[in-house]
Amino acid sequence: MTSFRVNSTFFTLVSWPEVTHFSRVTCDPKKEQNEAVPHLPTDALAVVIWAYLRLMVDSLYYNSLTNSDVVMDSLLEPIIWMVDLLTRRLGAVFVCLVVILTSTILVVVYVVLLPMIFDTYSPSWIAWHITYGHWNLVMIVFHYYKATNTTPGYPPTMKNDYPFVSVCKKCVNPKPARTHHCAICNTCILKMDHHCPWLNNCVGHFNQRYFFSFCVAMTLGCIYCSISGRNLFLDACSAVQSPYQTPPFTFRDEMFHKSIIYMWVLTSMVAVSLGGLTIWHAVLISRGETSIERHLNNKETKRMRKHGKVYKNPFNYGRLNNWKVFLGVAKKSHWLTRVLLPSGHVPFGNSLTWDIYPIRKDMMPV
Ligand SMILES: [Zn+2]
Ligand SMILES: [Zn+2]
Repeated sequence: MTSFRVNSTFFTLVSWPEVTHFSRVTCDPKKEQNEAVPHLPTDALAVVIWAYLRLMVDSLYYNSLTNSDVVMDSLLEPIIWMVDLLTRRLGAVFVCLVVILTSTILVVVYVVLLPMIFDTYSPSWIAWHITYGHWNLVMIVFHYYKATNTTPGYPPTMKNDYPFVSVCKKCVNPKPARTHHCAICNTCILKMDHHCPWLNNCVGHFNQRYFFSFCVAMTLGCIYCSISGRNLFLDACSAVQSPYQTPPFTFRDEMFHKSIIYMWVLTSMVAVSLGGLTIWHAVLISRGETSIERHLNNKETKRMRKHGKVYKNPFNYGRLNNWKVFLGVAKKSHWLTRVLLPSGHVPFGNSLTWDIYPIRKDMMPV
């Protein structure tokens, strides 16, 4: 065991030469003057300095609960912070992009697609296209407007008697069940699903139905444009590939072909990508989960399986009842008035307590 001095501080080196750890010795100035400090050889000094630096670095982040997940989270923290900042700043840009792209598709549909339908289809097909197309358009506009302009729901900050499951470290406020903190909105959100940059809003208890209905309506609209414009798209592609015609294409013809190609490519891409997202959210709703809870429930299922137990999601009321609760269907006519037509009804419950839905299959007589 050897004593040595680094930066006027005495340490005792244990198990020399294998430097494993230090123990600090009380530093007494009088004693320091009287005691002779041994001089270490250069190699040994380098080992000591290296061990001292390691100890110093370790002391900065040592935590008995640290594991690889915590280290990865810490390393990714700056990237996540940058993404959050960009999402917050570019929120309005994303919304403008949705409005502009949808408007351009509408122009192409009204100027190119509908006249073609009027010229080639029978009166009954024309009536169907007019009715379906405009119902779809109303559903898209209504649900997008409501999803962006409805607050997702925030937990109360004043004293109250609602039960809570934890305290938010950022807001320093009680969090009811299913509430999570949004780093982009910088507040807690009731029954938070995710923060949607395309809405520039969080998706939570009070606007999740609008978000999902918008996704369904937009996917259906894109599939409609993609299928209806398929033949026009194929004609436009062959026309673009053979530009030398007799008589040659006019500027109007070229714009016609390019706008058809633009509409078909954009709507097909959105139909596939947004359709996948919509199906995923439909699966989550069927299971009575939010996007965040899917991740948490998976972890909890694995944890309880290790203990020989089965985890049961307490907010899963059965597939059909989950849909009724989500869509706000309390009687049969609601499937028409609240699901197939635009409806501004508020969801069941307040998202602060979750004991309003008894867990039984005949929860609602529908
Ligand atoms: Zn919070
Ligand atoms: Zn948010």
